[in-house]
Amino acid sequence: MTGRTAAAAARATVYGYPRQGQNRELKKAIEGYWKGRVTADALRTTAADLRRANWRELAEAGIHEVPTGDFSYYDHVLDTSVMVGVVPDRHRVAVASDALDGYFAMARGTQDVAPLEMTKWFDTNYHYLVPELGPETMFAADSRKQVAEFREALALGLTPRPVLVGPVTYLLLAKPAPGVGGDFDPLTLLDRLLPVYAEVLADLRAAGAEWVQLDEPALVQDRTPAELNAAARAYRGLGALTDRPKLLVATYFDRLGEALPVLAKAPVDGIALDFTEAAAANLDALAAVGGLPGKRLVAGLVNGRNIWANDLEKSLSILGILLGLADRVDVAASCSLLHVPLTVTAERDLDPQITRWLAFARQKTAEIAALARAITRGTDTIAAELAANRAALSSRAGSSLTRDPAVRARAAAVTEAETRRSQPYAERAAAQRAHLRLPLLPTTTIGSFPQTTEVRTARADLRAGRIDEAGYEERIRNEIREVISFQEKTGLDVLVHGEPERNDMVQYFAERLTGYLATQHGWVQSYGTRYVRPPILAGDISRPEPLTVRWTSYAQSLSDRPVKGMLTGPVTMLAWSFVRDDQPLGETARQVALALRDEVVELEANGTSVIQVDEPALRETLPLRAADRPGYLAWATEAFRLSTSGVRPDTQIHTHMCYAEFGDIVQAIDDLDADVISLEAARSHMQVARELAAHGYPREAGPGVYDIHSPRVPSTEEAAELLRAGLGAIPPERLWVNPDCGLKTRGWPETKASLENLVAAARTVREELTTTGSGS
Ligand code: GLN
Ligand code: ZN
Repeated sequence: MTGRTAAAAARATVYGYPRQGQNRELKKAIEGYWKGRVTADALRTTAADLRRANWRELAEAGIHEVPTGDFSYYDHVLDTSVMVGVVPDRHRVAVASDALDGYFAMARGTQDVAPLEMTKWFDTNYHYLVPELGPETMFAADSRKQVAEFREALALGLTPRPVLVGPVTYLLLAKPAPGVGGDFDPLTLLDRLLPVYAEVLADLRAAGAEWVQLDEPALVQDRTPAELNAAARAYRGLGALTDRPKLLVATYFDRLGEALPVLAKAPVDGIALDFTEAAAANLDALAAVGGLPGKRLVAGLVNGRNIWANDLEKSLSILGILLGLADRVDVAASCSLLHVPLTVTAERDLDPQITRWLAFARQKTAEIAALARAITRGTDTIAAELAANRAALSSRAGSSLTRDPAVRARAAAVTEAETRRSQPYAERAAAQRAHLRLPLLPTTTIGSFPQTTEVRTARADLRAGRIDEAGYEERIRNEIREVISFQEKTGLDVLVHGEPERNDMVQYFAERLTGYLATQHGWVQSYGTRYVRPPILAGDISRPEPLTVRWTSYAQSLSDRPVKGMLTGPVTMLAWSFVRDDQPLGETARQVALALRDEVVELEANGTSVIQVDEPALRETLPLRAADRPGYLAWATEAFRLSTSGVRPDTQIHTHMCYAEFGDIVQAIDDLDADVISLEAARSHMQVARELAAHGYPREAGPGVYDIHSPRVPSTEEAAELLRAGLGAIPPERLWVNPDCGLKTRGWPETKASLENLVAAARTVREELTTTGSGS
């Protein structure tokens, strides 16, 4: 056992820290710069001040190696593109004339030039900018940002460890550049990319870096033998460099699996593994390779993406096992703390009892430092922390918030029958046709209408006490009246109330369900300068009173046409929240589903015949590893069905998802058993309609004919053309006409014009159908 003595000096570290500052100073400075109100120098100064404050804070909290290079003006994957010289041709001029403006042009686009595509960073809610590569891509090292930030931290007398996105993950996250064939595999560029990484590593070494961290989260996903080979080649190559810093390859978000032996064999100096949810699998895999003799193991014990206090005793026991498995064991968060808010102490409105259960970035840092101290100086040196931690955990476990016997009893008693509609689709469809009497190709929208300044002002006025509840209700009703009258005038068939009362499709429901907590300052970066404040799903979920019935019924009272009720589905309610970690996700989803089920039934009882339950997050929550997907999809689809199956056969259930690539979940979409699904399709020219048809999807669908992501107004002919394309795949009795997604980010003028054209297109194509129908 070489480990024990050497490892008895565990050190604390993190891979990244929230970038925005206590009061979102970075967001303000960047947005100010975009508006011309903040100079580039002032922006750089703000950024440098924030970095310095973070490093000092980390060092004072007992973090031994502070991360550098994790800071970003927009996104760390875009920073990596800059570091390796990957600038799309269309942005070259902008980047050459001003590096900072060119950087923001790549991130956000300009009037004439499209930005890089943005997509989710693994299964988090952080979005990165997708590198565009092709066979012609030439890399060139630009280590300036990395070296400069390293030096800044060094100048503070700290031990900085630069953090880079690793070369394999970088290539695996890339996509073929526009104009390059879709079958181009960016990984073929590895041999061209490695010398550039070698150069950056040499520059960091020259600047004085002892260790450099290369993040390879892509290795926790299922990888082909070719991809594993690429990883082996990459780290054999980088490891063989002579004058280089020590290399720490970091993995997180899941178990490393078959990539663990690859990295264990590679000539790298350290490996970081996730010991939160993946603890058992990673422990087994470590034991199977005989540990990491001669290497440093960084143990991600503190969950970097949830907000719960760590179970320190459990972490210590895992550490106890790890000490014998490597030369040196250090303690870290499982991933960058970028994914959690800064500090719990800012939350003055939370019950102090509950605050103790929580740990944001600052509290997680303290946990990491305490764990490292326990190893180095003995458990008794953290006796006070352990006692407080034990008390917090038991307060959480025994709280009436986390254990509501009525909710638990009901969830435990759910029967299979409750998760199925009472009649098969064909019978329901007939009943719905008779009940709703809709024309062929019925027109509808996805739910929200433009969120006007009046609506936002009303909400702000209510919060500030400038108007009372009654005054607020009156303003919302006015808005609903306008939306309903517009839809009637325009000739839409299934109306919506427009969702003016909702700040956000998850937050609105979270605020009304018992078991959810809201934060005041719990901001986390979603992308660029966009920060979100996810609610905390902390306890057992119940619905103290109706959530939406008042608004939907009011809207219905204004029209003879059906008004569609609008709810956010159970999977999305979990996906866009911080979820509890003390029970399986499926159990939490079932509780949310039961609360929604009551709402659905109550909507129906109040005269609502069409109810839409949105699940835009169904696909993004898909586990990273294929082996975990069937289990996820089983509880996810069951939760959806549980929330929607309490209604009569003649009540029509809709669902909505806003993406076009759903090939890997088309069976799950079918398993939702919704009567109607609306999807994004305008940009891909109805590709989803063909995919649904190929799958044999048996129910009704509304592939979007209006791309709501831009203010552009589609012409009637354009929408009609898309409809005709849709009819090539879906028969007229099952095809709906709708936009791609909700309209809340659009302005009224383009919304009006677009929906008028959409209705005109439906009429045109209906007529074509009758003419050809009678002619044949
Ligand atoms: N009903 C929601 C809306 O229209 C759906 C939003 C979404 O799919 N993200 O805004
Ligand atoms: Zn959508």
